[in-house]
Amino acid sequence: MDKIFLSDIKYIPGIGEKRAAMIKRELEIFTYGDLLNFYPYRYIDRTRVYTVQEAMRDDSLSLIQLRVRIEKVGAVGEGAKRRFVAVARDATGYVDLVWFNALKWIIDKIEVGREYIAFGKSVIFNGVLSMVHPELDIPLAESSKRVSYMYGIYSSTEKLNRAGVTTRNMTKWMGALLGLVSDRIEETLPEYLIKRFDLLSRREALVNIHFPASTELLSRAQYRLKFEELLLLQLSILRQRNVRVTRGCGIVFTNVGEKFNRFYNECLEFDLTEAQKRVIREVRKDTRSGRQMNRLLQGDVGSGKTVVGFMCMLLAVDNGYQAAMMAPTEILATQHYESLRQQCETIGVKLALLTGSTKKRERKMIDEGLRSGEINILIGTHALIEDSVQFANLGFVIIDEQHRFGVIQRSRLWTKSSVEPHVLVMTATPIPRTLAMTIYGDLDVSVIDELPPGRKPVKTMHFFDSRRLQVFGFLRDQIERGRQVYVVYPLIKESENMDYKNVEDGYESIVRAFPPPRYVTVIVHGKMKPQDKDFGMNMFKNGHAHIMVATSVIEVGVNVPNASVMVIESAERFGLSQLHQLRGRVGRGAEQSYCILMTGDKLSADGRKRMEAMVRTTDGFELSELDLKLRGYGDLEGTQQSGNMLDLKIASIGKDNDLLQFVRGVAEAILEEDELLESEKNSLLLEAVKSSQSKDKTIDLSRIS
Ligand code: ADP
Ligand code: MG
Repeated sequence: MDKIFLSDIKYIPGIGEKRAAMIKRELEIFTYGDLLNFYPYRYIDRTRVYTVQEAMRDDSLSLIQLRVRIEKVGAVGEGAKRRFVAVARDATGYVDLVWFNALKWIIDKIEVGREYIAFGKSVIFNGVLSMVHPELDIPLAESSKRVSYMYGIYSSTEKLNRAGVTTRNMTKWMGALLGLVSDRIEETLPEYLIKRFDLLSRREALVNIHFPASTELLSRAQYRLKFEELLLLQLSILRQRNVRVTRGCGIVFTNVGEKFNRFYNECLEFDLTEAQKRVIREVRKDTRSGRQMNRLLQGDVGSGKTVVGFMCMLLAVDNGYQAAMMAPTEILATQHYESLRQQCETIGVKLALLTGSTKKRERKMIDEGLRSGEINILIGTHALIEDSVQFANLGFVIIDEQHRFGVIQRSRLWTKSSVEPHVLVMTATPIPRTLAMTIYGDLDVSVIDELPPGRKPVKTMHFFDSRRLQVFGFLRDQIERGRQVYVVYPLIKESENMDYKNVEDGYESIVRAFPPPRYVTVIVHGKMKPQDKDFGMNMFKNGHAHIMVATSVIEVGVNVPNASVMVIESAERFGLSQLHQLRGRVGRGAEQSYCILMTGDKLSADGRKRMEAMVRTTDGFELSELDLKLRGYGDLEGTQQSGNMLDLKIASIGKDNDLLQFVRGVAEAILEEDELLESEKNSLLLEAVKSSQSKDKTIDLSRIS
């Protein structure tokens, strides 16, 4: 790359040291190259002229043009409030054009009785339309009408605006920058792609994204830049996979052995579903192939992923390797451990649990057991990826509910042994296809699309808070019938004390409505001492407690088949995927189960749509697609981290799905011919892919929770 693109933005005329520091801090734009890639987020069409009436009617229009004749001018107010007002009108009404400074210059310039094009931000003040500090132009003769004058708007903040980092200045700096570098913008896509897909050159695209010469060129510029962005992303993911596959140094599990068979014959209390068997066969095939497995296992909540994962780990153990399973929360890791302990004892497998609260002494024993190979299977939380955890021969890794772990964390597990272990990522969050393609694009996918037999679909209802008494009546009735109830409060950020207050207040009000000793209610949340938490969990698991009040941490994995009612408080604060996950906690037994969504009486249109969708369908994939539509990609539960890591500048997963799928096909075709992008004609692509990958490594690990 030309070195000029690495120059500090402070050298761009007009920016200077101070503003540069501000821009670096607020926008993370450091170099000429960064600035060039800071695109307007929307455009205003300066060929469109609004009428005063239109502007009065639609307050969402902010920057607009009016074509008005000046009727009267004059200064009003005193001192600091002194301003210059030009009263102007078109056929539909009046507008005040207002200036607070540079009065003299304006007075000299404006001619009463003349027609102007006023461009600026329109506001309605005391029922009068006004425009502060508009730009004034003399209208061009009709005959010389410009084809387009699209004007880019750059995103900014209050703080930046105050420091003079405004769209207007940004436009100036961008102009100056393009003056300096436009001749030196190099092509990043090979000629044959540009020809085949009739793309603008990179140079034309960048010039037009900032200063569109016409609407047509603007859309071609956007297309070219999105195409490039998505293509490089897909190439990078798919090439990585090819690298892995062609390297071919996967651990080989040759036999299905004693432990696996003993578990199957002696411990398994039910028949596996066809889908479960199929997944085990797929994993078998991968682990025999000599290639390292990287597989995503998608299966709705309750579809029985754990047992599949466990049997895969036994495959590893039977072949002389260790296995590890990483869960997102301590509760869940502990639950996996508890549920497997008995069975491991029966079949003679040594199991250990490692979490953040494992005591030092025990930790030492685990470390030794792992290093000597005495421990066969380790279950744990994040603690498992710490550098100090070393295995003798780790051969298989399971990541449960992976969406909570970043891609980077996944790769950290690979460094735990000299040969990369096989990796199985399990998730219950159905991910829209396009998103899976991007985030998990390097993984093969297995699906458990069948629930164990005898499950009844959960009935879902939505109630406003004002109907709470009625809901309590329903809960009493269910408890009379011997059922148990979850009441869940949102826990958006584990650090937010507010959320803990909600759950504690909630607990108190439940206890008032369901008084002991007749009813037993327990509370479980992340800020409690582990032993108190365990106590609560156990009371509920054993059936001694009727109601469990909890934060949304229970969303992942708690398994109490007799609990058949899930009440979700402030349901509007959850995304659809998360609501779906929570709902999956019930409906595990033979009884009819219920999910009750409680929301405030005032519900946004978006919130209403989410509640309606939950009531209408239990199809996780349908819900995830809808979630993507409603909330956009960035907000999708659990994908945020991965989303940020993708760092898309112009393309949007969700909005540009069609293009993404198209480009995926293009990427596949390129790699079909040239597996690792090593041919001469793809050298530009290889360079771009490599540089994007080296950038990934600099991501601050501490930012990933
Ligand atoms: P998830 O896929 O959500 O992790 P789990 O693995 O926790 O689901 O399984 C949910 C429940 O279903 C567990 O109690 C498990 O023992 C049970 N289960 C799993 N597979 C079957 C099956 N084939 N038949 C009956 N019950 C099963
Ligand atoms: Mg699970």
